[in-house]
Amino acid sequence: MNKDGNCIFCKIVDGIIPCIKVYENAKILAFMDINPLSPGHTLVIPKEHAENIFDISPEDYALISGIAARIASAINKSLKPDGVNIMQLNGKAANQVVPHLHMHVTPRWFGDGLTISAWEPKPGTMESVKENAELIKAHLQF
Ligand code: AMP
Ligand code: ZN
Repeated sequence: MNKDGNCIFCKIVDGIIPCIKVYENAKILAFMDINPLSPGHTLVIPKEHAENIFDISPEDYALISGIAARIASAINKSLKPDGVNIMQLNGKAANQVVPHLHMHVTPRWFGDGLTISAWEPKPGTMESVKENAELIKAHLQF
């Protein structure tokens, strides 16, 4: 299994650094975020080291998403939040701090003060929106 000796999440997978485990299978580990943005904040990671979304197959990414969905459902039933954010950051510009792919499952409550999804939409220029759609479509691979 591909591992990075300096990676904090690889060390968690190997049991060198402890974690509060919620779920694991052969490919995936889910554990509590040590600095939770909200009560119940859980991380879902591949056991094999992958830095970000560009470093993993869409199939393995889908497996991680599936477990995140199950964790979100369990959070919804147990902690009864008003909402849940699923976040997965790729690259420093996107604020990714730990360079081992992880999906955040973050419960939300009205008035919790978190700003993670509080962006202000600005009207787009249709010409540039369409131009970017064409660029993306031209590079879409299956
Ligand atoms: P990101 O900005 O998406 O890279 O977020 C990294 C997340 O990993 C943060 O929410 C940290 O609180 C969390 N984190 C860092 N070290 C640990 C650890 N040892 N155990 C659990 N969560 C951690
Ligand atoms: Zn790693």
